[in-house]
Amino acid sequence: MATTQTKDYYGILGVKKTATADDIRKAFRKLARKYHPDVNPNDKKAEEKFKEISEANDVLSDEKKRKIFDQFGFYSDQIDPAQAEAASRGGYGPRPGGGAAQGQGMPFDFGGFDFSDFADQQRRGASTPSSGGSGPGSAGWGGFRDIFSGMFSQGGKSSPGVQPGSDLEYHVTIDFWAAIQGGVTRLQITHQEVCPTCKGRASAGGPMTCPECHGSGQVTQMGGRMKFNIQCPRCGGSGKVQDACHTCHGEGTVIKPETVEVRIKPGTREGQRIRLAGKGNAGTGGGPAGDLFLIVKIGTHPVFTRVGDDIHITAPVTVAEAALGSKIEVPTIDGRAQLRIPPGTQSGQKLRMREKGVVSAASESRRGDEIVTVEIIVPQLKDERSKEILREFAKLNPEDPREAMWAKV
Ligand SMILES: [Zn+2]
Ligand SMILES: [Zn+2]
Repeated sequence: MATTQTKDYYGILGVKKTATADDIRKAFRKLARKYHPDVNPNDKKAEEKFKEISEANDVLSDEKKRKIFDQFGFYSDQIDPAQAEAASRGGYGPRPGGGAAQGQGMPFDFGGFDFSDFADQQRRGASTPSSGGSGPGSAGWGGFRDIFSGMFSQGGKSSPGVQPGSDLEYHVTIDFWAAIQGGVTRLQITHQEVCPTCKGRASAGGPMTCPECHGSGQVTQMGGRMKFNIQCPRCGGSGKVQDACHTCHGEGTVIKPETVEVRIKPGTREGQRIRLAGKGNAGTGGGPAGDLFLIVKIGTHPVFTRVGDDIHITAPVTVAEAALGSKIEVPTIDGRAQLRIPPGTQSGQKLRMREKGVVSAASESRRGDEIVTVEIIVPQLKDERSKEILREFAKLNPEDPREAMWAKV
């Protein structure tokens, strides 16, 4: 009988056993950024590491799974409830503070704890409260999809049959002008597609002996000093598996790059999510594909800065223009426009040009403003006459601009 290795999920994420949910989330994010397959293309080691930290996060970020892991030193949603109950009687009592959460009333009495129900709950994405509107196909992604782009497929092996594909998230930078005026952009993504060889069936032919349990249908896991026999997750206890498809190695899906065309709506904003239905990962066993979500980042412009629907610019203004008041020309996204500088305008002062910003994506009748920050340019005096005039000006205006400051010191 084969033995499945137990893993130190806390060690993998580099957190203490007392870590809070927040600590775990932060540690995972940090590691996930480092080892993500998109950041480390064709790096098998990084991919393995990424799978490992994802697995650790999947268990530790889920209160129920973490409790089971803390209790037994490993997690499996195939734990035989009877064995687990026996273990809890045999000295594995509830820990102090490991409270009766969610009104279950019996933290580690596994009697009546319906594991299949629990697994379903996981599949429905019940453990992703932070993902905000977890759509269909967020199967088992617990806490991942709210991070950033990429792909990671989890499960599938242990629960064969129809599985919807998972959603994908990608960050996409859209040209400054395309985001304002709308357009089409192309994006290269990598996602799982239905295996062309086996058409998603994952098998190449007849049944063969399960390589995980060598046909016994059971594997042993260690939990502290206890040994548990659990149903083999690979074959589901039958001891036989279908000879895996050689193209997809029994996954039913293959990883493939694809170029997708994305229509950009005029007025698209920074941080906006664009959904491309069915462009996520392929499902298995005929399950529907997940969706692709694009998180928009807006490209920069040398003069204009976009903040929501507003455009910000900094306009240099001469001392005379600012002191006497004037009309100057400034660039807007529509071209040149006149701006009145009121007499006595100060450097850093912001002047608002109503409805010179971006037409809102939500409603064409709404438009942002352009906000002009005045930057007063002090002249470099070269001729005597100008210096004379300024000295005379100083005599006529002897006020001390630092007076108010000194009053407060
Ligand atoms: Zn295949
Ligand atoms: Zn097996």
